[in-house]
Amino acid sequence: MARLHGILFFKIFFISTLLSVTFAHDASDKVLAKKIFGNFTSPAKLSPESLGKYNNGCLNGGVELPVKGATWQHINSKRGRNWGHPTLIDFTKDLSEKVTEFGWKGLYIGDLGNPRGGATPYGHAAHQVGLEVDIKFKKPKSLNLSFRESHNDHRYGKPAFKELNVVSKNQKNVNSYWTREHMNILKAAAKDERVNKIFVNAAIKVWMCKNAKSEGRSWLMKIRPERGHSEHFHVRLKCPEGSPNCINTPLWNKYKNVDGCDKQLAWWVTERLKPKKKVVKKTVKKTVKIKKKYKCTHARCYLPEDLPKACLRTLHFNN
Ligand SMILES: [Zn+2]
Repeated sequence: MARLHGILFFKIFFISTLLSVTFAHDASDKVLAKKIFGNFTSPAKLSPESLGKYNNGCLNGGVELPVKGATWQHINSKRGRNWGHPTLIDFTKDLSEKVTEFGWKGLYIGDLGNPRGGATPYGHAAHQVGLEVDIKFKKPKSLNLSFRESHNDHRYGKPAFKELNVVSKNQKNVNSYWTREHMNILKAAAKDERVNKIFVNAAIKVWMCKNAKSEGRSWLMKIRPERGHSEHFHVRLKCPEGSPNCINTPLWNKYKNVDGCDKQLAWWVTERLKPKKKVVKKTVKKTVKIKKKYKCTHARCYLPEDLPKACLRTLHFNN
């Protein structure tokens, strides 16, 4: 009898442990992933691993970039988005040191990611797997700005840090704040083996296509045209070793000697900027139509169960 009790106890213990591991997350709560991940102040202390896609994933073993270093200062540190995979932290420090060769004191660093990665409560779709960092175009005068001076997120007081916009109002060219030093920095970043791609405003890439040396231009392919990105550039690293479930976006190294200075790039600063033709609305007969329910598929709407399964472990991991 005692033995039977023992087995029964073991069974109950085993099943309940299994349940608590598997179902600790209560899906019926419908709490958005961005809220849960945005609230973490500590990483999941597991071996470093980027999980999932850049815009749908999470991070184990996150490392914090100190707010200030010899060659960098993190901007908007109150957001707590100064975490990343160790490779990203190393890359960020390395690039900030490298730019001293171009006459810069260092770099102002924008958002990396949450301590456990995942969606951010506001601002980004990507930055989820600890492999992305935004870097400001503003050349630092001081890397010892005060709390106020290093913030421009209105949630934390009156914005004081002024961004530097390097693109003209019509979005077709760079403006007078753009310098060759900026290109040198972007080139150094793109030539780094760890980098997958870099997003900049299309007008910036157009300038670089015209002004980069004619030989050895394959690094230019990694510089990708985007909207926005006129005050900072966004660096995305390749999936690092030890992250078998991290999903790279297509790598550009197969396009040897191709620079991406093509028709598609020209489209960004011509056709795309043309005012849209007004669509004349046809009078619709008043019939009762059942409206299709709008399904939000953006990162801001993800529930934890929309993330890779392994991220549920990250989410519930108790250090
Ligand atoms: Zn970014």
